[in-house]
Amino acid sequence: MNDGLSVLNGSITNGLTNFAIMFGQIEERDLFNFDNTYIELPEDFYQKVSPSSAVAPKLISFNTDLARELGANLETIDEKKLTDVFSGKEILPGSIPIAQAYAGHQFGNFVPSLGDGRAILLGEIITPKGLRFDIQLKGSGQTPFSRRGDGRSALGPVIREYILSEAMHALKIPTTRALAAVTSGDQVHRESIVPGGILTRVASSHIRVGTFEYFSFRENFSAVKQLADYAINRHYHELMGSENIYFEFFQAVAKRKLSLVAKWMSVGFIHGVMNTDNTSICGETIDFGPCAFMDQFNYQKVFSSIDRNGRYAYQNQANMALWNLSSLANCLVPIMDMDSDKVSTLFKEEFEDLSEHFTTLWIQEMGKKLGLFSVTQADQALIHGWLQYLEKENLDFTNSFQDLTVLLSQSESQNIFKRTTEFDHFLASWKKRLKQQPQDIEESKNLMQQSNPVFIPRNHQVEKAIAQAMEGNYEHFHRLNHVLANPFTDQEEHQALRDAPKEDEVVHQTFCGT
Ligand code: AMP
Ligand code: MG
Repeated sequence: MNDGLSVLNGSITNGLTNFAIMFGQIEERDLFNFDNTYIELPEDFYQKVSPSSAVAPKLISFNTDLARELGANLETIDEKKLTDVFSGKEILPGSIPIAQAYAGHQFGNFVPSLGDGRAILLGEIITPKGLRFDIQLKGSGQTPFSRRGDGRSALGPVIREYILSEAMHALKIPTTRALAAVTSGDQVHRESIVPGGILTRVASSHIRVGTFEYFSFRENFSAVKQLADYAINRHYHELMGSENIYFEFFQAVAKRKLSLVAKWMSVGFIHGVMNTDNTSICGETIDFGPCAFMDQFNYQKVFSSIDRNGRYAYQNQANMALWNLSSLANCLVPIMDMDSDKVSTLFKEEFEDLSEHFTTLWIQEMGKKLGLFSVTQADQALIHGWLQYLEKENLDFTNSFQDLTVLLSQSESQNIFKRTTEFDHFLASWKKRLKQQPQDIEESKNLMQQSNPVFIPRNHQVEKAIAQAMEGNYEHFHRLNHVLANPFTDQEEHQALRDAPKEDEVVHQTFCGT
């Protein structure tokens, strides 16, 4: 049995506590400086709530590196305080807990009232660099938006979101992050009875496309405008004062979202529930539910058990992002103060541009993985040639890019790839393309090493961490977090985590597991 406070990710702040004691700093200061602005919006934007106290919370992990980045005062912090704060038992001074209202299109069907049903926003904090972040508990009990749900979270999804969101961050992809995980001591009723957990999530904000839809559906356009102004001020400050500000806001949101999807695809990530309520306005990956990184490459790969028609399959993610963005556009039109023909032409043209823009972003992201410093539309064929080969031969996405990087400094005879006509064609075109670049092969190889992770949170490893956690053992959880913090570095002692799953280890389906 492992108490979860291992030396790896969960390294508690003993050193810091000792430091504080040494210097006699006994006066307790607060963990965060809260500065809440969302509660200044009208009352129908949120509901004030209190987290329900967990029966017997226990700290699994506290992300000290992230806490430092956030400017948390760790001087007098101890495990009990962390447990109390991150289970919702202790409300810090300055925190005004709320549940946010939002709606959303779920798998294309509109649901007018969703909202934080099992999440509670503790408040906003300002970091030493002046950045603003939301601190949110996920799984801390019912709120007015819980509908029939229990407001709880099972331990499995907490472990999963912690590992995946931190891995996503280390892969340099915009994402919400995990500050802490606790077990609640409660039993949660799902398909079976399982231990409950609470995740503390950090996000640039939790404003979603669905937040706009909530007010748009109610034809409360002054609220839509207030929300847009708030989001612009918070996330797109550079647009302040623009003439056509709401349209430019739309464009900026769209660019961030499409860039995010291109990055996801470059690491084989499939979000799985890219509904409008899970689409962040600031362009971060949010709501790690049945998401997964794929092993074998497949354009149409779906993991989520609830995505029966493959709406959010790997290759559909850009189109679905555009679908979600069209929902946002519909919310913004009434506040744009433009005649309807003009506005519809404007958006029609914008969507055509965005579609092309995504292709460019995708070629850039995938091109880097093939060692290409600058790309053209013609490189699309090269990239697809490679991906089609991977798909046909059932090859592992991540490891194949590693093998290809190695191939750059190998002789023909060392080539481990199966030599098919497709492969030979790809190889010849690729080598020719690399030679056309002003950079030499060594530079291309460096670019590939920087763009291709060695380690990704493989499903079977995440499942193993979850299975152990259910038994109260967090060793694998900490090991994964430790290794995935440096995904581009080959870590010899952790080679087993590079391996694709064996046949009996393959995870075919993932579940929302709320
Ligand atoms: P998600 O699947 O996390 O995107 O959640 C979709 C909606 O269901 C959101 O409004 C959640 O707050 C709500 N929800 C999910 N799980 C629960 C739960 N256990 N209790 C209450 N509400 C929930
Ligand atoms: Mg959600």
